[in-house]
Amino acid sequence: MAVAVRCYVGLGSNLRGPVEQVERALDAMARAPALRLLARSRLYRSRPMGPADQPDYINAVALFETALAPLDLLDELQAQEARQGRVRGKVRWGPRTLDLDLLLYGDRTIHSPRLCVPHPGMYERNFVLYPLYELSPDLMLPDKTRLSELLKVCRPEGLEPLERRGM
Ligand code: ATP
Ligand code: CA
Ligand code: CA
Repeated sequence: MAVAVRCYVGLGSNLRGPVEQVERALDAMARAPALRLLARSRLYRSRPMGPADQPDYINAVALFETALAPLDLLDELQAQEARQGRVRGKVRWGPRTLDLDLLLYGDRTIHSPRLCVPHPGMYERNFVLYPLYELSPDLMLPDKTRLSELLKVCRPEGLEPLERRGM
């Protein structure tokens, strides 16, 4: 059996009951045989990143351990998106029932056609960095950038934590 690696996943939803969508995805991760959920952030509400004429997003970050290889983990995440009705439209950053982004896979750096890790957007997105900080304030990225340094230049505008639910 391969050694378990610590991974962070960013969750987002802005369609068909976003809070329930994110909670459902977290539950599915907690139950998935190949994953061991270690921690999850609070839920956050954020302004949409792409087209502005779409609902606000609900976001969270989860930390888990897995022995899955990176692309197998991506398959697992995309299967869960599909189970929750994700339809890939033409619009970049358009509305979606569930988005699961693999933020970090241990301290690996991966550039493959299907998978870039660390997730390229995570360096400046407040709805990723703030929940991540909740889980791991001392986190260092594979390129030795400290999460705390990224947060110093990441404004929290439009980001609002919700009450903790569940877990
Ligand atoms: P963004 O990636 O900027 O947050 P998005 O989440 O809307 O945008 P998607 O349409 O969900 O983008 O994904 C497009 C493709 O990105 C996926 O099919 C997947 O192969 C690829 N991808 C590359 N790196 C990652 C990653 N770290 N996590 C998830 N998908 C990734
Ligand atoms: Ca995304
Ligand atoms: Ca995605």
